[in-house]
Amino acid sequence: NLMEKTVHIAIVPGPWYSHLVSILQFSKLLVQLHPDFHVTCIIPTLGSPSTASNSFLQTLPSNITYTFLPPVNPNHLPQGSTLESKIQLTVTLSLPSLHQALNSLRTPPVALVVDSLCAEALDLAKELNMLSYVYMPPAATTLCYYFYLLKLDKETSCEYRDLPEAIQVPGCVPIHGRDLVDQAQDRSSQPYRFLLQRLNKFFSANGILINSFLEIEKGPIEALIEGESGNPAVYAVGPVIQTRTESDYNSNGKDCLTWLDKQQPCSVLYVSFGSGGTLSQEQIVELSLGLELSNHKFLWVFRAPSSSASDGHLSAQDDIDASMFLPSGFLERTKEQGMVIPSWAPQVQILSHSSVGGFLSHCGWNSILESVMHGVPLIAWPLFSEQRMNAVLLSEGLKVGLRPKVRKNGIVERVQISELIKCLMEGEEGEKLRKRINELKEAANSALKEDGSSTKTISLLAHKLRNLA
Ligand code: UDP
Repeated sequence: NLMEKTVHIAIVPGPWYSHLVSILQFSKLLVQLHPDFHVTCIIPTLGSPSTASNSFLQTLPSNITYTFLPPVNPNHLPQGSTLESKIQLTVTLSLPSLHQALNSLRTPPVALVVDSLCAEALDLAKELNMLSYVYMPPAATTLCYYFYLLKLDKETSCEYRDLPEAIQVPGCVPIHGRDLVDQAQDRSSQPYRFLLQRLNKFFSANGILINSFLEIEKGPIEALIEGESGNPAVYAVGPVIQTRTESDYNSNGKDCLTWLDKQQPCSVLYVSFGSGGTLSQEQIVELSLGLELSNHKFLWVFRAPSSSASDGHLSAQDDIDASMFLPSGFLERTKEQGMVIPSWAPQVQILSHSSVGGFLSHCGWNSILESVMHGVPLIAWPLFSEQRMNAVLLSEGLKVGLRPKVRKNGIVERVQISELIKCLMEGEEGEKLRKRINELKEAANSALKEDGSSTKTISLLAHKLRNLA
């Protein structure tokens, strides 16, 4: 109905590729299901946006418009801080310009939806008389543990990693303190204080949208919905995933899809550590030799080594020469067995390719959901952030992934890598994982159908916002 009034909402993504894409992908779903909605996206900026983020923004439909806030200089932020803390600080520093941007919109939005790392911006919603929501790209399990941390912080005084038993949050898979999110590994640190501060802000929101669905995280989602006293309303709107990636069009992307076309069904292990994950030089060598030893086909998205596992997020690595970091002769010896492509690959197309039979992943939640949507079982190799929690969920909760043993020196050794690959790609256990992840795939697709749980939840939310407009 063309006479319908437009419902205007504003969103604030975190300046981190996977966070930016996730909230925008949700917005796309919203305007596709409810074409009377218009979304204005206001992006806090840390340094300059990545090539991948920029190309993604070019693909938005006309009822989603975006602007960038003046950039914050990464060199002005405390060195050695976590990526999350840097983003949170960027948001705090951007509040005046965000306020101005919201104020100058021609139609005032009825609601402000902010990324989970941008919770500081929730205060503006109150001031400007809008409803406010937090959009959580990570799993419901993570949110449950976050809320539990607020309680645990008051009840315990030791470091969580020193707790003798795994922490058992109602409805969730038990997780050891050492596997909690990075920021909770040192309770006297600034990132930990930032985390608690940010989580406390969540309670001022009218609701939290999470990128998950009942069938994959029933326990955590029900626990959140039934909620302990005072939790904001929780809406499970997932799986929100990318349907295409912008790198379709670059030549590396084309080459690897052509290579996959020539391989046997389910024969290739896809190896990737997300939009910016990096390994140490020593770990790169072990991984390469482990891949070679496994004798299985592989497609490896390669990044230069770094001592900080999340380094790739804020510094682009467009043109790197993998041979500088790989054992000598490796590329030559494995030229039939595998393909190494620098920095970036069209992940969604790769996971949907019939030749791909396994995914060695850093366990970012988007990668996990993409793997689920395409029925590809995983090797769960977490690096930073809340990825260890996701790895526990995959290996012990959902049982769709295998987690490698890490040595005391922090390294996963080649023999271990090779054994896990064999187990995943040829063993009976691998078959079981594949069967289970295919069941989740069915459930994920159902959640997105017209009468599916997530579609209904999004409609509920849209209805509420429409009534306000
Ligand atoms: N991605 C991609 N090509 C790459 C690396 C990553 O398309 O070479 C996409 C991937 O499909 C996913 C996102 O980047 O949508 C990564 O998100 P995730 O939550 O897994 O990890 P993060 O980047 O936050 O560490």
